[in-house]
Amino acid sequence: MNLRTTFRIAHGASDQRFNVLVHIGEPGGDPAMSGVGEAAGVHYHGETQAGIIEYLETIAERQWNPFLIEDALAGLPPGPHGARAGVDLALHDLLGKQLGQPLYRILGLDPAKAPQTSFTVGIDAPAVMAERARQSGMPIIKVKLGGENDEAIVAAIRQANPGCRLRVDANTAWSREQAVELIPHLAEYGLEFVEQPLAIGDIDGLRWLRQQKLGAPIFADENIQTSSDIAAHAGAVDGVVIKLAKSSGIREALRSIHVARALDMQIMIGCMVESSVAISAAAHISPLCDYADLDGPLLVANDPYRGVQYQGAQLILPDLPGLGVAPV
Ligand code: MG
Repeated sequence: MNLRTTFRIAHGASDQRFNVLVHIGEPGGDPAMSGVGEAAGVHYHGETQAGIIEYLETIAERQWNPFLIEDALAGLPPGPHGARAGVDLALHDLLGKQLGQPLYRILGLDPAKAPQTSFTVGIDAPAVMAERARQSGMPIIKVKLGGENDEAIVAAIRQANPGCRLRVDANTAWSREQAVELIPHLAEYGLEFVEQPLAIGDIDGLRWLRQQKLGAPIFADENIQTSSDIAAHAGAVDGVVIKLAKSSGIREALRSIHVARALDMQIMIGCMVESSVAISAAAHISPLCDYADLDGPLLVANDPYRGVQYQGAQLILPDLPGLGVAPV
């Protein structure tokens, strides 16, 4: 997939992303009765497109029963979470198609409760980022930080977008010292929260940072993969970012949401740079979450599917069966 603009975060820049579409159904059968999923590699866990394809080839001959999803997923060999998510999504799509119902209805969720999504602005010169945020016309802006000009960036974006809700994401780039110095300055511009300020795994650092009461809630993203990672963050962060590619699919994302709720944490449903397949899947469970960062299709220039729609920032869940996606 080609991106509309170069997407730069604290660790690098990209113009293209290479995800893998997963199809489950009878070869040559009715496409309306086959399930589609999307596998996006979680690069900071070393997942690549080649590794995902290699994994999927090892399970390609399996028989799949969409009415026994838990068993099907439990029987998968260990492997890239992104690849397993692709299988999980395709099975949920197939389940919905066989039942003739959209996934949100099967899960008992109200599509009217889907949150608004943020629009992500990748790292660039402050004036460029401010203009990109303004041109998006979106009321919630997520700002990638972790470069040279973090305070100037937030100041410029705030000045150009006085009414918008602002979130920032350092993608693990700051040291404890940088974070404790910087966050209070950034918070003066009005932040909903700060995502993953510190290195992966520095839970003690997050707990310490939160105790400093720096004026903005702290969310963990890269630190959290599956539901089993969440309990260790109780009290250390205000919220967690759950993504289907990290959790290995819808099933485990739902478990993560319930664990986070039990520990009194807020939840954002986020995404990798993904097409309408994976983003629509995430949108179906978004009514369970406080915040959404599901702007993948807005960043991609050649989305192979259509599904979730955007009314401004509001996610409009598709009503078609399953994930509700169709090839463009
Ligand atoms: Mg993040």
